[in-house]
Amino acid sequence: MLHSTLRSSFLRHVAQTSPEPDGFEVRQGEGIYLFDQAGHPYIDCISGIAVSSMGHGHPRIIAAIKKQLDLHLHTMVYGEHVQVPQVALAERLAQLLPEPLDCTYFTNSGAEAVEGALKLSKKITSRYEIIACRNAYHGSTAGAESLRSDLDYIAASRPLVPGVKHIRFNTFEDISMISMDTAAVIIEPIQGEAGAVVPVPGYLQAIRKRCDETCTLLIFDEIQTGMGRTGTMWAFQHEGVVPDILLLAKAFGGGMPLGAFISSRKMMSVLSHDPILGHLTTFGGHPLSCAAGLEAINFLAEEKLPERAAGFEKIIRTHLEHHPALREIRGRGLMLALDLKNPDHLFPAVKACREQGLLVDWFLFNNRSLRFAPPLVISETELNMVCEKLIHSLDQLN
Ligand code: PLP
Repeated sequence: MLHSTLRSSFLRHVAQTSPEPDGFEVRQGEGIYLFDQAGHPYIDCISGIAVSSMGHGHPRIIAAIKKQLDLHLHTMVYGEHVQVPQVALAERLAQLLPEPLDCTYFTNSGAEAVEGALKLSKKITSRYEIIACRNAYHGSTAGAESLRSDLDYIAASRPLVPGVKHIRFNTFEDISMISMDTAAVIIEPIQGEAGAVVPVPGYLQAIRKRCDETCTLLIFDEIQTGMGRTGTMWAFQHEGVVPDILLLAKAFGGGMPLGAFISSRKMMSVLSHDPILGHLTTFGGHPLSCAAGLEAINFLAEEKLPERAAGFEKIIRTHLEHHPALREIRGRGLMLALDLKNPDHLFPAVKACREQGLLVDWFLFNNRSLRFAPPLVISETELNMVCEKLIHSLDQLN
């Protein structure tokens, strides 16, 4: 297919979410590189938004998928048949997570993990109020969208799921809004789409304390922060706070679609009665996705990629922190926001990076930050090269 035809067919037949899509025409992925249709290599500093942590086409992931492919694909709706990749991944998660997080419900996506967690919280507590943070993004399905605070985004979807209240992230005085009426607080341990906003010391502990006082469940949305991206396997480890329900997706499937909500066996047991079969998914925990996810999580742990990400953050800060075009670098590990002094420079900066062979982008709720989230398998030499290219791109802004 000619490039011009490919692009026009994409615009004509693939439903669009914005008037000006990025439009990068992908031909192939290998390691930290994506190649366009003309064969030009670009270093992927987005990772499909925190998905491709193992890089593109990692041989271990491909081998795990192929092995499962030869055994079986889908066999039965979630929860009925015993499928080895699902069981093995759930068991591995229980080993890697602190108590009481030992029981996993697999989903296809992050938003579905959010929906499941909200239903579970309401069922356990018999309450319906949910508290979410301003500028949080938890997905685009009806329940997840109802958690959004920005009226421009949600106006067209009204009526929303009722009972949602918002608090300001990092604002201690709002914590008192959590009450005996609150079923759950859902929060990202580092806010992603707000622009990699890190909690101030003691904030998540204070939320945990208030949840305990009011018998409210605490849900950590680690869909973007989990799987080693922030320098520890789970971002909650930075804070020493364990949630009642943990949400995973994105990198969790090793590049395949997979999500999960994870809690204790005791809490999860409410899903199996009153009514029975009250929370179902056909494809959740697909065997190919679970096989890839298990390989990904083992690979991360064996190669100590989370620890490497923490070291790489220091390298990036050393190279870039004092660049005159930047105001601040936020985030942790390889989930970083490069905050520009001049918001008008955001799109020119993305373009300048593209010309240097770097794929970077921006955040949903932040008009001045570049998103920097390369695959965790990036080497130190490659990272130094990326930093040089970033500096060169930022130097061109005036
Ligand atoms: N939660 C967070 C923190 C996210 O960043 C996202 C997606 O960007 C989601 C939930 C929704 O995940 P999905 O796009 O897989 O539905």
